[in-house]
Amino acid sequence: MRYSFLSILANGLNGQSGWKPAWRDAAPKPSYDVVIVGGGGHGLATAYYLAKVHGIHNVAVIEKGYIGSGNAGRNTTIIRSNYLLPGNEPFYEWSMKLWEGLEQELNYNAMVSQRGILNLYHSDAQRDAYARRGNAMRLAGADSELLDKRQVRAMYPFLDFDNARFPIQGGLLQRRAGTARHDAVVWGYARAADTLGVDIVQNCEVTGFLREGGNIVGVETTRGAIRAGKVALAVAGSSSRVAEKAGLRLPIESHVLQAFVSEGLKPVIDGVITFGAGHFYISQSDKGGLVFGGDIDGYNSYAQRGNLPVIEDVAEGGMALMPRIGRLRLLRMWGGIMDMSMDGSPIIDRAPVPGLYLNAGWCYGGFKATPASGWCFAHLIARDEPHAVAGAYRLDRFRSGHLIDEKGVGAQPNLH
Ligand SMILES: Cc1cc2nc3c(=O)[nH]c(=O)nc-3n(C[C@H](O)[C@H](O)[C@H](O)COP(=O)(O)OP(=O)(O)OC[C@H]3O[C@@H](n4cnc5c(N)ncnc54)[C@H](O)[C@@H]3O)c2cc1C
Repeated sequence: MRYSFLSILANGLNGQSGWKPAWRDAAPKPSYDVVIVGGGGHGLATAYYLAKVHGIHNVAVIEKGYIGSGNAGRNTTIIRSNYLLPGNEPFYEWSMKLWEGLEQELNYNAMVSQRGILNLYHSDAQRDAYARRGNAMRLAGADSELLDKRQVRAMYPFLDFDNARFPIQGGLLQRRAGTARHDAVVWGYARAADTLGVDIVQNCEVTGFLREGGNIVGVETTRGAIRAGKVALAVAGSSSRVAEKAGLRLPIESHVLQAFVSEGLKPVIDGVITFGAGHFYISQSDKGGLVFGGDIDGYNSYAQRGNLPVIEDVAEGGMALMPRIGRLRLLRMWGGIMDMSMDGSPIIDRAPVPGLYLNAGWCYGGFKATPASGWCFAHLIARDEPHAVAGAYRLDRFRSGHLIDEKGVGAQPNLH
């Protein structure tokens, strides 16, 4: 069923009796051309593009809980393409372009809101680094503007410009960046993939791999064995644990990242703001809550909940940036498991074991990557060669030393 003004009108007139479930609750079949492990945004987007772009419809997405129960439904919803390095910027800009057409493509309201992101700078050296990043973005076709203090003050007069330790000098603005409703992105991809014949199998945990000779030819699950021409992992924070079952040790550590939401307010912040002298970022949801976060918890964990020291650290960042946040009450907080790679950049590659494909290492930046990750992973699975904008995301870079070491994308040695 296509969602449209007419379908809303028709169902309004017939007592809302014509709506169908947005996707089928599929039972696993004995075999598929491709089995994707992980029903987050990346797994579902990969399934959608495999069917839509490459004509591979005999696909299952296997999810141990319910779709979106991982990081896809836990993130702070920021989308942007303000990266510096040539290995990253074209990929994230491609993702931004896919976001811009996503709702029409999926026929689903993912609440993509290009409200802009402002990265504040607090020193001359930081301004120069942001100028460089902005120029690199423009060379890759993205938009960026370097603002001075007067321009930032006109946008957000309530920030603490004269903070004794971290005075705000200006900011790097990407107007096309913004937010998207994370659950709706999951549901939109699930519905669109299901329409193209993809089976979405929930409450089904992958517990091992089927092997023939040295090849992986399927998965063992809590609902029985499933054979597959190709098996693709998109399990984010569980990457190291699931890959271990295939005998792989990935250059990934899992850490918790927490997010926070305040009580609802009238509109006060109409974009996304990041503090440049610590790690704190903030936006306002359409319901009115201020949504904010900061650093990962500093120890390894597979728990989907965090601890108090980071809450204090994040609150300090918020107070340094906008002191009036101190009058707010915190309403909710939660945690997700981050797949921290050792250079802060992802892996989209064939695994060293034939038949297995890897999508991992998203650190705390994988939501914005969802469309391009799905697009490029589907390309790799279908054609057995990397997509042009994801060519740098090879697993063997950690052996050869060709790291994509971009500050601000995730990995920081002192947190590992
Ligand atoms: C608090 C927080 C804030 C964040 N903020 C942002 C942000 O503002 N912008 C941004 O770009 N990114 C952000 N991120 C990061 C982003 O959410 C992730 O990088 C991204 O969602 C990861 O990809 P995914 O959606 O496919 O992962 P997930 O949704 O985690 O999907 C992986 C799925 O695999 C399933 N799985 C695991 N093991 C198995 C198994 N054995 N069998 C079957 N299924 C399995 C899990 O249940 C899970 O549903 C944030 C993350 C968190 C936690």
